[in-house]
Amino acid sequence: MRCGSCRHEWLVTAEWLDRFNQALEACPACGTDCQGEDRPDFCADPEDPAQEDSAVREFYWYHSSTHEDWPDRKLDPAARLTDVTKRRMEAMGSGVGAWASRQKTKALHVGTYEAAIENMLRRMDDQGSSDDQFYLYRVQLDPNCVIESGVHQEPTNFVGDVYLAEVCAPGTNVFRYVNVHEDPSSVSLAIEPDAMRAVQGIPMPLAVDVTDPWVLDAIARLSEATSKSAPQPKLQRFRLREVTALASEARRLESEIAAGLPLALRERFTVGFDEAGFDTAPTAFPTKLVGLARIVTEPRAVLDALNAEPWRVLQAIEGEAVFS
Ligand SMILES: [Zn+2]
Repeated sequence: MRCGSCRHEWLVTAEWLDRFNQALEACPACGTDCQGEDRPDFCADPEDPAQEDSAVREFYWYHSSTHEDWPDRKLDPAARLTDVTKRRMEAMGSGVGAWASRQKTKALHVGTYEAAIENMLRRMDDQGSSDDQFYLYRVQLDPNCVIESGVHQEPTNFVGDVYLAEVCAPGTNVFRYVNVHEDPSSVSLAIEPDAMRAVQGIPMPLAVDVTDPWVLDAIARLSEATSKSAPQPKLQRFRLREVTALASEARRLESEIAAGLPLALRERFTVGFDEAGFDTAPTAFPTKLVGLARIVTEPRAVLDALNAEPWRVLQAIEGEAVFS
């Protein structure tokens, strides 16, 4: 953390952060807490290897997305617009062509493995994307990419977009910033597509064996819950909506799995339970719970799955063989 008031820097734990966010902890030097305008916030570790340009080029960088073919550079942003929207944009004086080419220069975000996974869990939780198919991408940067010096604040505009042309010198295609939302204090990159050399991707989460003992036990508990009667009418008066025994059991299973995750991820761990679909696909929910948790607790399996994927080369370096 770095205090916005006195600039003091110190290390904290997830438990300390939890208390800080409730205004129960403050800057140890000057006492500024989370309520002040100059509140302490995450800053990049001066010892983080990603402070070095050579390490940024050598590292693998990660990105999670619901796009099956990220980054699809042939994708036409205008293809998603309706004719009515296009006519309206033209009438308002902003040409569709100019808008589309600006959309194409929008920076892409890559970061640590942890940041990519937290981003996926946050989207599943906040944006109701828990049913969407996600993909994890691993990126190799072009060894000739041009990196802006220093680690900066995230330079997003009011809709959350970044245009590197607005924040660095022409020709720069990699911009380091401190991520304050996911894997806080880690270094993330806003990059232009031409800064990437190659990409690998896998669907997330990894498949889970339906004979896994925890999965079998979870299915048995859910099946037993379906046979239980609905809550007593007297209790229902105090509830905002009726919760069936099946839905309650599903929430219990979710909490049990979440309890094995780091503190900061527990509240974000939301796996949509399709109650109506339980009879036809009883393994879907328990296997997804286990699969998502293992991304965090057993990252080696995910990295092994990525290692088994071929690299999709976006730009080959002249005179150099394409790596496997
Ligand atoms: Zn302070």
